[in-house]
Amino acid sequence: MLTLKEIENKILQAKRITTEEALYLYQKAPLSLLGSLAHQINVQKNKEIVFYNKNLHIEPTNLCVFHCKFCSYYAKTKDDSWEYSSEDILKQIENKINDITEVHVVGGVHPQWGLSRYVEIINGIRNKYPKLHIKAFSAVEIAFLAKRAKLSFFDTLTSLKEAGLDSIPGGGAEIFHSEVRKKICPEKVNTEEWLEIHKLAHSIGIASNATILYGHIENAEHIIDHLNKLRELQDKSKGFNCFIPLKFKSTNNEMSYIEEVSVVEDLKMMAISRIFLDNFKNIKAYWPMLGRETAAISLHFGVNDLDGTVNDSTKIYSRAGQKEKQEMTVEEITKMISGEGKEACERDSLYNAIGQSTI
Ligand code: SF4
Repeated sequence: MLTLKEIENKILQAKRITTEEALYLYQKAPLSLLGSLAHQINVQKNKEIVFYNKNLHIEPTNLCVFHCKFCSYYAKTKDDSWEYSSEDILKQIENKINDITEVHVVGGVHPQWGLSRYVEIINGIRNKYPKLHIKAFSAVEIAFLAKRAKLSFFDTLTSLKEAGLDSIPGGGAEIFHSEVRKKICPEKVNTEEWLEIHKLAHSIGIASNATILYGHIENAEHIIDHLNKLRELQDKSKGFNCFIPLKFKSTNNEMSYIEEVSVVEDLKMMAISRIFLDNFKNIKAYWPMLGRETAAISLHFGVNDLDGTVNDSTKIYSRAGQKEKQEMTVEEITKMISGEGKEACERDSLYNAIGQSTI
């Protein structure tokens, strides 16, 4: 086993570290070392540029057939639920169309909606807004739709792509290790299915994101195992645009007895992701979940993307206790980035710089 210094040297020589080395580093290295290594790798890949995009979230429903224990989002009662029609969805987009380049559509797994309803949603958006990037439906929704329609994952993805789907978000990954997964979300898409859906999506030109839900009952081994599964798939398929560590929030769910982790753990998570995932170009701090302050600090811990303006259109984290307004203007987001000594750059949904590209 290498010493901490030897692992550090290996990383600085741009050599891939093993899972054992990553675990040792994550458990033993001080935050300052993790941050410094992550920052150096990030600057090598992305200079001092930080991406943001102009986006709108649509959450078509919070009704869900599943009951993940960490979830604050799904409707616990009928009075607490919503279901949007295609017209509602188009109206939400119409109100913001001049301020966005992407729509991000994700929600609960509705007990009655089948594939045709999901195709109708995508089709409606595509027909009215041919140039808008449609990032929609996590592997959780896609797996359920496929099973309900008795179709393969491949055919389901193909139907959605033909309707106008451009990319898929990274939700539903949570923690891949079965020891944790069976405790926090035993009903939903399993690890092999999640990875298979993303692999198939990449094979037909649908890019995707990847996530982890950290800061609850998982341990360091589970985190490194999760990152390793993603690194292995990315080696083969090369279709992940970015990796997004999502922090467990403890309000309004069945795991509320767990205290949220500190900012130190947030920054460790960002840094180890940047260090271990050497085949991911982009690591995102999703500010609506992390909060503006921690997201800003994370720009020094390997992060090069802050997601978007969001336009106060997501309820996922406000229902989980996040008090900050889920909207930033372009001025606010660019000021936040420049305030950290970085250069803000608007991107499209496939991570191409828009405008003043310097990457
Ligand atoms: S995390 Fe997603 S799949 Fe699980 S209960 Fe919440 S909305 Fe449903």
